[in-house]
Amino acid sequence: MNNRILASSLARVEKFLGDRTPPAMVKIGQNTDPFRILVGCVLSARTRDEVTEAACARLFRRIKTPRGLLKLTSRQLEKEIYPVAFYRNKAKALKLLCSDLMERFDGRVPETLEELLTLQGVGRKTANLTLILAFNGMGVCVDTHVHRIANRWGYVETATPEETEAVLRKKLPKKYWQKFNEWLVGFGQTICKPLSPLCSQCPVDKHCPRTGVNKYR
Ligand code: SF4
Repeated sequence: MNNRILASSLARVEKFLGDRTPPAMVKIGQNTDPFRILVGCVLSARTRDEVTEAACARLFRRIKTPRGLLKLTSRQLEKEIYPVAFYRNKAKALKLLCSDLMERFDGRVPETLEELLTLQGVGRKTANLTLILAFNGMGVCVDTHVHRIANRWGYVETATPEETEAVLRKKLPKKYWQKFNEWLVGFGQTICKPLSPLCSQCPVDKHCPRTGVNKYR
């Protein structure tokens, strides 16, 4: 898939998604507090959207800052974020992250990708998404949906999300960087699903080589 066809495919995906409910992180991102967005990114890993949103809302009714989160006991924090996936590990990770924010950034979320990537437990996906949603920065957030669909479209030929991000940073026109994740997450949740994509209902099927797809509906 070249950039001309990609542009047409993205326009179709955007039109298809229309007024559908955006992915959880986009909704959480409508709140402009960078700390809340960063915490939401951590909670969202391998967790359903509605569970992430509810946990984030519960937690932020109780705390507002890294200092506030550190005042919670581990049990209290686990209880607030339950039932997000791996809630015990995520509670530990949030404590470490908040200690790091207090020690090195005076409780503030840093604004650059390089600094975000130095934070305890923050990987490329979280750093890029926080950069985009909290600071309107130029990030390329590659999660499982973006990695899968970009490969199915033949836009990239990569084995890992990290490789996909590197290729997208070279190839994807910058005007799409901030929205690429939102569109492909929404599309991946509804049509281009992981195991058996709904190709018969797909708005971009004419342009899609379905690379690596063995089973579809
Ligand atoms: S045709 Fe199938 S594999 Fe290709 S984008 Fe559509 S749903 Fe995904």
